[in-house]
Amino acid sequence: MSKEPQSQLRVGLGFDVHRLVPGRPCVLGGVVLEHPTGPLGHSDGDAVLHALCDALLGAAGLDDLGTLFPDSDPRWKGADSRALTREVVGRVRARGAAIVNCDIVIATEGPRIAKHRAALRESIAGLLGIEPAAVNVKGKSVEGLGALAGGAGVAVQAICLLAVGR
Ligand code: MG
Repeated sequence: MSKEPQSQLRVGLGFDVHRLVPGRPCVLGGVVLEHPTGPLGHSDGDAVLHALCDALLGAAGLDDLGTLFPDSDPRWKGADSRALTREVVGRVRARGAAIVNCDIVIATEGPRIAKHRAALRESIAGLLGIEPAAVNVKGKSVEGLGALAGGAGVAVQAICLLAVGR
C-alpha cells in the first residue's frame, strides 16, 4: 500500500514585457527606480511583479494574471501591482502552498538593475512573506539587439517553487 506524499513541490514560470516610455514612474518589483522612462501599462506596468505573479499562479495551478485582472477592466487601471501581488499570494496560500523561493531575470537597457538588486529583493520578499535570501534578482543587457535595444522596453522571466500540502 503506497503512502500519500506529505508534500509536493511545484514549479511555475512567468514572463512579461512592457515598453519603457517617458513620463511614467519606473516601477519594477514594487520599487520606484530613478530613471527617465517607466513601463507603459494599464496598471503601473510592473513587469517584474507581473511575471512573478504568473509564476506563482502557474505553480499553484490557478488562472493567469491577465485572466484574474483583465486590462479591459477599469478597476485595474493604474493599479498598484503590489496589491495584485498580495492578492495572488493570498490565493496561492489558500491552496495550501508555501512559497519556497523565486528567481527573476530582468532583461533591459533601461534602468541599471545591478545597483537596485538589494532593494528589489527586499521589496519582493516582503510581498511574498519570505526571506530576501529566497528571492534572487538579476539584470541582463540585451546587447543592443532586438526590440528592447536602447532601453525601449523591459522583459522579465520569473520562476518560483511552491511546497504544497505541508
Ligand atoms: Mg504586464
